Amino acid sequence: VQAAPARFASAEEALHTVFGYDAFRGEQAEIIAQVADGGDAVVLMPTSGGKSLCYQIPSLLREGTGIVVSPLIALMHDQVDALQRNGVRAAYLNSSQQSFERAEVERAYLAGELDLLYIAPERLSSEPVKRFLQQGTVALFAIDEAHCVAQWGHDFRPDYLALSELSERWPDVPRIALTATATEATHREITTRLSLEDARHFVSSFDRPNIQYRIAPKSEVRKQLLEFVRSEGVDAEGTPVAGIVYALSRASTEKIAGFLAQNGVNALPYHAGLDAGVRRRTQERFLREDGVVVVATIAFGMGIDKPDVRFVAHVDLPKSVEGYYQETGRAGRDGLPATTWLAYGLQDVVQQRRMIDESPGDLAHRRRLASHLDAMLALCETVQCRRQNLLAYFGQPSEACGNCDTCLEPPVALDGTVPAQKFMSTIVRLERERRQRYGAGHLIDILRGKQTPRVGQYGHDTLATWGIGADVSEQQWRGIVRQLLAQGLLATHGEYGTLSVTDTGNEVLSGTRTVMLRAEPERAASRRGPKAA
Ligand code: ADP
Ligand code: ZN
Repeated sequence: VQAAPARFASAEEALHTVFGYDAFRGEQAEIIAQVADGGDAVVLMPTSGGKSLCYQIPSLLREGTGIVVSPLIALMHDQVDALQRNGVRAAYLNSSQQSFERAEVERAYLAGELDLLYIAPERLSSEPVKRFLQQGTVALFAIDEAHCVAQWGHDFRPDYLALSELSERWPDVPRIALTATATEATHREITTRLSLEDARHFVSSFDRPNIQYRIAPKSEVRKQLLEFVRSEGVDAEGTPVAGIVYALSRASTEKIAGFLAQNGVNALPYHAGLDAGVRRRTQERFLREDGVVVVATIAFGMGIDKPDVRFVAHVDLPKSVEGYYQETGRAGRDGLPATTWLAYGLQDVVQQRRMIDESPGDLAHRRRLASHLDAMLALCETVQCRRQNLLAYFGQPSEACGNCDTCLEPPVALDGTVPAQKFMSTIVRLERERRQRYGAGHLIDILRGKQTPRVGQYGHDTLATWGIGADVSEQQWRGIVRQLLAQGLLATHGEYGTLSVTDTGNEVLSGTRTVMLRAEPERAASRRGPKAA
């Protein structure tokens, strides 16, 4: 058994020789020095900030093999391929391999022939694997996507909990935990769960100033999306640019891609249900051709290193701010102006609340999901700067940015107490007088005095609130209800999303609380605003 020798004497030498770069970026040099000297580090750096070098270079400077824990097999393959092309002796161990392939990697590790070894977290939690690693020399442990260890985070993976043991087994081996998404709470959890109390913490700015954030109320989402793609989908010379459209379901990725394609956009669907060959070809085309727009579930984008994605659109509400930040972060990795756009509506809120109610797991789990959704809704409904809200969520105070929709076209806040009371009293009357609960659509029909079969059948045209909201359009009502839900004044129930008034909502009804609402345009058009780089 032998230890892989140190390959370079200095970090700069490794940077120039292996990676061909001139200089370190941001805090890379400090992080590398900390780990190469045997210290621990916690690194919070946005996507494409350059996290990989922070463990790859120390692995080349230290004796032994750098062990990289990474949950994404596809990403592992890409990184190892890229390293090998640069002359680094890298390999991986994961479930996609045949046993003879694994045996060869294991032999190379023990013979000291590997600079870097990538391992899936579930392997590293197995006792035989740990014993095997102990036979060789570990230069360092890098724990990528470290937010996965946080049970209160948005992407918890139980396999990560076993990583807490590394410090006991290898007390002298430095560890570096890295993530691109961490709230203050997640940051604390990473530190305690991975026993990194003595580590140095490197927290880079999460701001991506070249990205313009826009969030619009959903009305006719396909039309809105097409308008957005038409305004953002070509560069100054008129050449089509690359973009990603995220949708929640596989079926809707196909429908939307079809719709865009019919309208002259070079759009392709991508989701886990498609044949592996088709997915590979789509990825290839996205990387190599001009102007390919991929309409995908969130499976798409992890580990795809395409710097010039010019826009990211969401046609469904993301489940958390972390997810939104990660997905929008795939735009503009080259630092040039890029735009992100999200459309969301009442139905998104109802649907996601229902998914949370129905999700398996205990109450604490559902509370966590609900708090993630609430933070996302707060970002959507804010009348202040989007970026300020986003960065504050990651614990970073900032000024209004001038490059988001609320900065460029400040929304008007209105007193919505009266319409809120009208809506809520309709709910309460139906509950008290008739023991009935309804979803938003029927309640809006009643308020607008719309004669529908159901209104006739139940005699709802005799309610005291019948027709008292006819001055407000149906779409505006939906916007109001969405905001009341987002503010926690209404709650939804069951499969049909029937509505009730919460305790806080009752304060509005009784006149002890007022409601401020964002005024919404009749149909939100995507207007092109100035973009700062
Ligand atoms: P992250 O893991 O933080 O998302 P990566 O490590 O993949 O980011 O780095 C993003 C891109 O930036 C990669 O293409 C990488 O090669 C490049 N990069 C990283 N560090 C430097 C540097 N010091 N100089 C130039 N390019 C760099
Ligand atoms: Zn702003």
